[in-house]
Amino acid sequence: MRHIAIIGSGPAGYYTAEACQKQFGDEVRIDIIDRLPVPFGLIRTGVAPDHQSIKGVSRRYETTALTDNVRFVGNVTLGKDASIEELLGLYDAVVLATGAPNDRPLEIPGADLPGVTGSAAFVGWYNGHPDHAALAPALTGGAVVIGNGNVALDVARVLAKTEAEFQGSDIVNHALDALRGATVPAITILGRRGPHQIAMTPKELGELGELERATPVVDAADLPSVDDDATLDPGQRKSVTHLRNFAANPGDKPIRIVFDFFAMPVRIEGDGKVERVVVERTALGPDGSAHGTGETYAIPASLVVSCIGYRTPPIPGIPYDDKAGRFANEEGRIMPGLYAVGWARRGPTGTIGTNRPDGFAIAEKIAEDIGAGSGKAGRPGLDTLLASRGVEVVTFRDWQQIDTAEIAAARAGSPREKFVHVDAMLGARIP
Ligand code: NAP
Repeated sequence: MRHIAIIGSGPAGYYTAEACQKQFGDEVRIDIIDRLPVPFGLIRTGVAPDHQSIKGVSRRYETTALTDNVRFVGNVTLGKDASIEELLGLYDAVVLATGAPNDRPLEIPGADLPGVTGSAAFVGWYNGHPDHAALAPALTGGAVVIGNGNVALDVARVLAKTEAEFQGSDIVNHALDALRGATVPAITILGRRGPHQIAMTPKELGELGELERATPVVDAADLPSVDDDATLDPGQRKSVTHLRNFAANPGDKPIRIVFDFFAMPVRIEGDGKVERVVVERTALGPDGSAHGTGETYAIPASLVVSCIGYRTPPIPGIPYDDKAGRFANEEGRIMPGLYAVGWARRGPTGTIGTNRPDGFAIAEKIAEDIGAGSGKAGRPGLDTLLASRGVEVVTFRDWQQIDTAEIAAARAGSPREKFVHVDAMLGARIP
């Protein structure tokens, strides 16, 4: 028998479990450990609440979760309830699928002013992550969103939508209430490079053109010649075509979502809270990187959301690639018995589906490395350890009770109303 622990129950964790199941059949026992009492990681608290079709993939993870040889071990925190060393002693393989929940820091003066927030906190706030439920962002003035990736699009779209446009979403009530009272007249999306360098995908960018009360604004002067679009890959070309359409069809809806390209934030100013972002105009060097031109201007803002990427939190004693913000690894192998998958392995790139081949690749490596297993204690060993520490483990059956309670509490038209506090999640279990 092989014993495998996967830390993190997001897409990377569940795809790895599915792959290990396919690889080893009944000759494996897999424990998926998560610090929250609820599974699915980024599907629950990262994917935008109005992108329910993407969230539907959790049904696939549920199929994996409900098989006998896979177990969800929720409410267990690595480093507090059990150490990596202890898990390595109990399991033939320990797989870190811990994602990248920390923001890449915005290293400019004023980044610590109240009103400046990273996307992890802002996205966690509207998605009901217990760590960020208390955020209370300022929604009564201009908003500046830094970054030209899909997270910047999610944040801008959520800020711009009307209550009716959240129909069918699982945005949490505290965020919906705050957004209902919001008066954000302009949302500026800052890109330090240009339209050809955006990391926004076409479907997500196209959504900005269909909002009820907000209109995307692109300055045609920022767009390269149409002929140059031929150098782009097809997806990027579609995205740039959206930008061209936005530039050609300026709408007159009340909220403006302004794409400010070649614009690098250099400092954030304000008296005790953010009031403006000072931006420097950029030009691109021959290698495509942005450099400041010396020309600066200020954008008034009461909210700044930095969407410039994420980092995996390091674990003391585990090799870490500080530059890349993820565990140091060779194709997922960190050290004997220890592996990384998903964003913890490759950094915060790709879609949910990218994690599937990642999971299958690591299952093959584990198979090469651990043979038929080495008689470790596995599950019963973990149970004994956690019981000795009085840890209250949440099972998948418990999660199903929490799930049922969330579905029952949903406002009309919404799939669920999430519990946003761990105690409330634990309290929803039926004794
Ligand atoms: P991302 O795609 O890596 O984009 C980060 C953006 O931040 C880039 O435009 C980057 O510009 C910019 N940036 C980085 N450092 C900066 C700085 N110091 N100052 C100003 N700008 C800076 O990251 P993301 O948007 O967080 O997305 C993470 C991953 O999740 C991506 O793979 C994304 O596609 C995926 N995602 C997908 C969806 C979806 O499919 N619906 C939704 C959300 C997220 P440079 O290019 O100049 O470095």
